Amino acid sequence: MSRFWSQQVHALTPYVPGEQPQMARLIKLNTNENPYPPSPKVIAAVQAAADARLRRYPDPAATALRQAIADYHQVALENVFVGNGSDEVLAHTFQALLKHPAPLLFPDITYSFYPVYCALFAIDYRQVPLRSDFSLCLQDYEQPNGGIIFPNPNAPTGRAVALSEIEALLQRNQDSVVVVDEAYVDFGADSAIPLIQVYDNLLVVQTLSKSRSLAGLRIGFAIGHADLIEGLTRVKDSFNSYPLDHLAQVAGIASFADEDYFQQTRQRIMADRERLQEALIALGCEVLPSAANFLFVRPPVAAAEVMQALRSQGIIVRHFNAPRIQDWLRISVGAAQENEALVQALREIVHG
Ligand SMILES: *Cc1c(COP(=O)(O)O)cnc(C)c1O
Repeated sequence: MSRFWSQQVHALTPYVPGEQPQMARLIKLNTNENPYPPSPKVIAAVQAAADARLRRYPDPAATALRQAIADYHQVALENVFVGNGSDEVLAHTFQALLKHPAPLLFPDITYSFYPVYCALFAIDYRQVPLRSDFSLCLQDYEQPNGGIIFPNPNAPTGRAVALSEIEALLQRNQDSVVVVDEAYVDFGADSAIPLIQVYDNLLVVQTLSKSRSLAGLRIGFAIGHADLIEGLTRVKDSFNSYPLDHLAQVAGIASFADEDYFQQTRQRIMADRERLQEALIALGCEVLPSAANFLFVRPPVAAAEVMQALRSQGIIVRHFNAPRIQDWLRISVGAAQENEALVQALREIVHG
């Protein structure tokens, strides 16, 4: 606390990311990072770009990266916005597109950054409860609103909604922006990107942090109607002209160019997720169906205690001390050996 802080700073409750401990030999299943390294072609591209050219500012519009994303997703350059991680893309989205007199709607159990942005930008919001099975009921969003945002698959539950339900929502809700946060879509849900050609109020946000193993480089993007992208660009250019550094732009382009690696690693994670789910159910856990690279798990003994017991064995998972989900743990799908170590440790904790 300081008397030098702006008034607003006193009232902030910042987002708390999952910890990044520096302990050696940790099994880190708490932040949904990819267990596999980035594509070797991405590493090579970054190494080749790390030279004297770094004295220059990067391309402020990241045009080559945006074009690579546009080509990959079969949209036009003017439909693509990029930012320093999708968290920054989301921040600009809240400010540029979701701040209106009517409240922003999002699920009661969802990405906990959303209410933080609302507080930062003074956006009125309303949380819409998930069903008791933690599925998203988009019919419940049929109420006056200044915007709607939800992840698909949702976090931290991992549950996905069908594209037909998103399209039905878009048909009912044409007077405010609908944002689909697709941070985990590559692990088993259908992307809403094709719908941007039909609905000018749809914005789809994705990241290279999870399915493309690039959390450390901070690359996120949004796809939507050119007018939405222009609004985001106005905010971006009023905040930071160069959100993506040169190495990140180069790495992003190289990632979209290596389709084989992307497919191999995501398929492996999805297969390992099914194996992990079965093993956890066999231990007496309740596990939600997941279309993401994590599982939402209710262990047969107190979740907070399980988290601590795992931690003492060097296995880190995420526990949210929040209403409705205190009994649950969010466990990232790791490499096969890490998943086995988790199951083994959990077996001892549960059965003694
Ligand atoms: C991880 C995550 C993000 C942020 O990803 P970055 O691109 O690394 O900032 C956004 N939304 C959800 C739901 C996430 O889980």
